[in-house]
Amino acid sequence: MSLKVQIYGAGVAGTFLYFLLKQAGFDVGICERRRSPDCRCAWGITYNEAKALYKEIDVNLDEYVLVRPEYVVINGVAFKNKNVVIFDKKRLLEDLWGRMDLKDAGTPNAQHADILVDATGYERALLPKIENDRLYPTMQTVEKHDADENIYVYARGATGYAWAFPLGDKRWHIGVGEAEGNFSALLNGLREKYGFEVGDKHSCRCDAFVRLLPPSKCRPFIVGKVVGVGESIGCVSGAGEGNAPSLRCAKLLYECLRSGRLEDYERRVLKHFRWIENEHKFVEAVQQGRLWRALPLLPKIVAVESKRAVGHSVADVRALLKLILRG
Ligand SMILES: Cc1cc2nc3c(=O)[nH]c(=O)nc-3n(C[C@H](O)[C@H](O)[C@H](O)COP(=O)(O)OP(=O)(O)OC[C@H]3O[C@@H](n4cnc5c(N)ncnc54)[C@H](O)[C@@H]3O)c2cc1C
Repeated sequence: MSLKVQIYGAGVAGTFLYFLLKQAGFDVGICERRRSPDCRCAWGITYNEAKALYKEIDVNLDEYVLVRPEYVVINGVAFKNKNVVIFDKKRLLEDLWGRMDLKDAGTPNAQHADILVDATGYERALLPKIENDRLYPTMQTVEKHDADENIYVYARGATGYAWAFPLGDKRWHIGVGEAEGNFSALLNGLREKYGFEVGDKHSCRCDAFVRLLPPSKCRPFIVGKVVGVGESIGCVSGAGEGNAPSLRCAKLLYECLRSGRLEDYERRVLKHFRWIENEHKFVEAVQQGRLWRALPLLPKIVAVESKRAVGHSVADVRALLKLILRG
């Protein structure tokens, strides 16, 4: 008899896990509390990894790519973008939802399932709450601007940053995340630095949280028959990248369920996402002004991010160091 798996949350991790399990013949259900996919600004994704993973469930990521920005510009310093694309996450999720038997969150009878998957993102609705959780408030709008299609970032003091992501057709996601919800200085800084003027051009605005805590601090991952996946267990990098990590985490969970070795899950997640642990340690050390702790981690972070996302020449690393030392 196949294992009955009930997934809560049809975001990036939940939908991907659903199709992996379905294809492998599991008895799998999925429920969601929203009526349509979350449209929040989370549309940057590391292309190579996401492309390969989505291929496993017959999704061609290329059909959803909106823009391939040439540079990631941080506080005016341009880094060559290697692998980050902006994709239409909402449309991708809408298409996946259309192929699933998606139920309302209140519908499933938890008692009938062998495994309940908490794929509810920052909500972590099924697993116990995390002591000293770090949920960063964010806010973002969709605006029209005439600018080169790069990713623009403005940061000060390492407690958050503001961003502009090109969506094509002159549309931009303008957003900000800050530990205490102090948005205006960062947002104004971004607008001033790159010329994204304030106007009454918003076609959308939303507010959300992002969990900036590494997996090791989001344990337990498994409580009784509940298992967490994706952002619910901290699969978000120090810079707030959670899309590809959540897909990867879902794949790890799938492999453990398929091999009947769920007991390996926590160890495998912690091992795979060691780079996320390093990024969080780095950010925390910079926030605390402990540069002697942060700087030794930099080579490791640069090595990983150079492969995953953004190219770092020697000159880039020098520029990065200057940015960090300036605060
Ligand atoms: C403003 C912002 C910008 C971001 N930008 C990026 C980016 O550019 N690139 C990137 O890689 N990452 C980004 N992230 C992070 C990324 O969005 C998340 O880490 C990622 O979506 C996590 O995937 P997930 O499937 O674990 O959770 P989600 O994608 O959050 O999915 C969780 C789902 O669970 C549902 N849900 C919640 N509670 C319940 C419940 N009780 N029952 C049923 N369903 C429930 C939610 O409605 C949602 O659909 C950003 C985050 C924010 C907030």
